[in-house]
Amino acid sequence: MHVGVIGGGQLGRMLALAGIPLGMRFSFLDPGDAPCAGALGDVVNAAFDNAEAIEAFAARCDALTFEFENIPAQLLSGSDSITILPPANALFAAQERAREKSLFEACDIPVAPWRAVDSQSEVDAVVEELGLPLIAKTRSLGYDGKGQSRILAAEDARGLFERLGNVPLLVERLVPFDQEVSVIGTRGADGQVIIYPLTRNVHRDGILHTSETIGDEKHLARQAVHHFRALAEATDYVGTLAIEFFVKDGLLLGNEFAPRVHNSGHWTQNGAPYSQFENHLRAITGLPLGTTALSRPSGMLNLVGSMPTAQSIEGDGLFFHAYDKSPRPGRKIGHINIVADTQESVRHKLVALSEQLNLGA
Ligand code: AMP
Repeated sequence: MHVGVIGGGQLGRMLALAGIPLGMRFSFLDPGDAPCAGALGDVVNAAFDNAEAIEAFAARCDALTFEFENIPAQLLSGSDSITILPPANALFAAQERAREKSLFEACDIPVAPWRAVDSQSEVDAVVEELGLPLIAKTRSLGYDGKGQSRILAAEDARGLFERLGNVPLLVERLVPFDQEVSVIGTRGADGQVIIYPLTRNVHRDGILHTSETIGDEKHLARQAVHHFRALAEATDYVGTLAIEFFVKDGLLLGNEFAPRVHNSGHWTQNGAPYSQFENHLRAITGLPLGTTALSRPSGMLNLVGSMPTAQSIEGDGLFFHAYDKSPRPGRKIGHINIVADTQESVRHKLVALSEQLNLGA
């Protein structure tokens, strides 16, 4: 089975690490010089909007998927010779925040009040209508907290449209959330849905810092499962899907979703018998899906900007994952998964490790 992946970053690399033991072979389409997935398969060097190159790539592969979201979705859906999973309609919705929020609403997933805004006068009108505090985000091409600005006081709104680049924005109510969680699961081609235990996430400067599994919050898990099924079914989804939520007073509010394997699901590599990567590959190639049961309470610490050596990360239940990317401020270059007998012990290890690596608690 030859799997083609559009994008050759760490997610592609980890897909290949999960798929090679299943007898799969990998190729990556990526415009970069030396994408880090290239250690595990062939690389076709082409731009993400090169329709001809993508068609030729698709023709060489038995299954086609993507690990990067900024590919023109119309290009993938508009060609009879390209069959891609997850389906391009899910990618299309995730690429633009107003479409994404509208899809959440169509699936009865609660969201914070929001408006699409296309000028400074519309920014001013939304401040008036929704009240403060608010957060403005570019409607497309934003990731890891980039292209965002908080409006905490009236003066923050002044000149905001220009400051964010005179591009379409989404302005929404800033949620004083109790915590952030994500749900990750996989839908097979036959419609079977499997869902991992809920994950609690902490972000720093808009970038994921830590994740840990939550075993005991059944009322949250019930909502997450319901929302996951609704979104996966509405998009006729096949593959691994992640939805990020704010939790406020016991209610989940949809923030965004990723039509792909997701950073907050990396703990599944060591904390579950079948990782999010393996289940993604199983779904898109028609293999039976593997259980999402937790092996042991788990967590993950992202390595952003600088990289410890594997030798310095010692301890029972710690698993080091390096992406072979050169360090740069704000760049995700690896992560450490943690498993332990109790969630409390996972949390202690996360804090200790974060302090040892000088990342703060
Ligand atoms: P996003 O790119 O939308 O995932 O935003 C990155 C991070 O910014 C989120 O994970 C939150 O920590 C924070 N954030 C984004 N939107 C809101 C909001 N409406 N209210 C509170 N915090 C937010």
